[in-house]
Amino acid sequence: MIVAKRKPIDEIKEMLKPYQKILVLGCGSCVAICMAGGEKEAGLLATELAMAFELDKTPKQIDNLTILRQCDKEYIEEVKDKLKGYDAILSIACGVGVQYTAEALGGEKILLPGLNTTFLGATVEAGTWAERCRACGDCVLAEYGGVCPITMCSKSLMNGPCGGHEKGKCEVDRNRDCGWVLIYERLKKLNKLELLTAIHKPKNYGAVKRPDKIVHEAYQTPQITQIKEAK
Ligand code: SF4
Ligand code: SF4
Repeated sequence: MIVAKRKPIDEIKEMLKPYQKILVLGCGSCVAICMAGGEKEAGLLATELAMAFELDKTPKQIDNLTILRQCDKEYIEEVKDKLKGYDAILSIACGVGVQYTAEALGGEKILLPGLNTTFLGATVEAGTWAERCRACGDCVLAEYGGVCPITMCSKSLMNGPCGGHEKGKCEVDRNRDCGWVLIYERLKKLNKLELLTAIHKPKNYGAVKRPDKIVHEAYQTPQITQIKEAK
């Protein structure tokens, strides 16, 4: 899932200064799971902001609303008219949600980011999320025993380790496991240490054109294209 964390309150206040009628827009998916941008967080942030502006003697109207996904037009459409009634919308979705909601509103409304979108990760224990993938678009996990060198090595080395690891820890930060030690241990467990003898070419990040777009083959038939064009 996409993991994000809330921006510092002073940074959010600064962004909102020029606006009077503000909506804090939550997203009920990934950012709700990582407790940064769901319904509960939208309500708390709206209250915190309203109190902060009140104390500064610059009171503002700050409402909140949460939709299931800000990366899906279907859910934005349902509340479109409501959203248009605000001077600015503080979106606490990931960066995709902020941009996509603005697009769905025709680019006519100010959308501000309340979160810093941080990584694609997993819930490793309650309240703890850890990065596992950088969405490179050309997955090489099969060659590394299922441990991503791009994400798990601080230097994203495709051939490692570097000379800096010590007692299984990374030289960039001694509190972090060396990604290449993790790769070695996994390959050993899988009885596939021979994979370490391969010399990997530098990753071709140009293999994926950014921004990328995927159209499922079921939606590429001429009939569907015609129906879409007719709409
Ligand atoms: S190689 Fe790593 S960054 Fe690329 S898709 Fe696979 S897990 Fe994600
Ligand atoms: S110590 Fe390990 S994880 Fe850190 S940069 Fe070197 S190879 Fe990568």
